[in-house]
Amino acid sequence: MESVTERLYAVSLDEQDVLGAFRSRFVADDSGLIYLDGNSLGRLPQQTAVRLQRLVAQEWGERLIRGWNEDWLALQSRIGGKMAQLLGAQADEVLMADSTSVNLYKLALTAVLSQNGRSKIITDDLNFPSDLYILQSVAQLTNRELVIVPSPDGIHGPMAALAAAIDDQTALVALSHTVFKSGFTYDMVSVTALARRVGALMLWDMSHSVGAVPGQLTEAGAHLAVGCSYKYVNGGPGAPAFLYVRRDLQEQLHNPVSGWMGQRDMFEFGLTYAPAPGLRRFLTGTPPILSLAAIEPGVDLLLAAGMAQVRQKSLRQTSYLVDLWAEWLRPLGFTLYSPPDAAQRGSHISLGHVEGWRIDRALIEQMNVLPDFRQPNLIRFGIAPLYNSYLDIYTAVCHLRTIVTERLYEKYSRDMTAVT
Ligand SMILES: *Cc1c(COP(=O)(O)O)cnc(C)c1O
Repeated sequence: MESVTERLYAVSLDEQDVLGAFRSRFVADDSGLIYLDGNSLGRLPQQTAVRLQRLVAQEWGERLIRGWNEDWLALQSRIGGKMAQLLGAQADEVLMADSTSVNLYKLALTAVLSQNGRSKIITDDLNFPSDLYILQSVAQLTNRELVIVPSPDGIHGPMAALAAAIDDQTALVALSHTVFKSGFTYDMVSVTALARRVGALMLWDMSHSVGAVPGQLTEAGAHLAVGCSYKYVNGGPGAPAFLYVRRDLQEQLHNPVSGWMGQRDMFEFGLTYAPAPGLRRFLTGTPPILSLAAIEPGVDLLLAAGMAQVRQKSLRQTSYLVDLWAEWLRPLGFTLYSPPDAAQRGSHISLGHVEGWRIDRALIEQMNVLPDFRQPNLIRFGIAPLYNSYLDIYTAVCHLRTIVTERLYEKYSRDMTAVT
């Protein structure tokens, strides 16, 4: 077998890859772009382009209002039901609606209000900023204390400190399953158990794990979850998010943004709100059908691949990138800002470098490699097992080496742009 730093090694890994054929199911131009940002915006599935053309030309163009009964009204629960398989949940526990931030607000607020007499909401400082802002708002509105437990190193979740903080005064524990900077991934089962042990509710944000790390919501007995469909699920820019409410809680909790789509008889247009039975009460208003329908082909691809296979390839690919880092990039001043233990990783690897921003610019503008960047100096390499090859990873690392050894980054400005 070749050594890890040989190109042939990458080629042989690709040849053995059982998911290799999925790459051609995505739209790619022939520019040779190496796309390593699937954790921010996934690639466009071929089938989604076909679906959207039909949706615009026939369903909207010709069927008009009849489209609602012919397919559109069914989309939120049909796609949610498929998404449930990625999350390790039951089909009638997941709906597509709104954005992750809005769903988080809806579920966190009702969760806290349902927990009389408990004074604390617990999260960590690795959580996504929008989540922290929403939780701050929920804490203010409900007169609770938001406890932000600090990570010991900025990379790993504070497991011991969380275990100490989650007590019988805790109403809600809200965490990202996979955290957006380091990619650290919590063990959903053991953390949920900490909350359940004291009667607190557990809410997972799975935005950065869904479609890359198999969810275990049912196995963990988790109460609530939310997450994006535009990252590893490849649903398209700004595609609606999902919400999950454990079956036995659906009738106990209330939707604080109680709109007509969650009304018991929505087409009676009554003057008083009465919640629909089951999960549908967590809907609010009319969904964006163009964006919603675009999610389904990406979910179908993940289901066809199988989440166990996706996870296995993701683990191999992140480990391969870490091995190349150790051989080639560590000596050039790159630090690993992701867990060294593969089992604690999601599907992206963050590398720090004092010249991270300018190296990122050189990768994009000179090398045709597209990762993303997070403050202060982290380059994130999102690896989407359905369309990223081992050769993608190898080539990106070779370019990183060249950029640093030949100081190619020096000609780029230190000024930041808006979307990185
Ligand atoms: C990407 C991401 C979001 C984004 O939320 P939006 O409402 O879609 O902007 C939220 N939380 C986490 C953990 C994320 O990774």
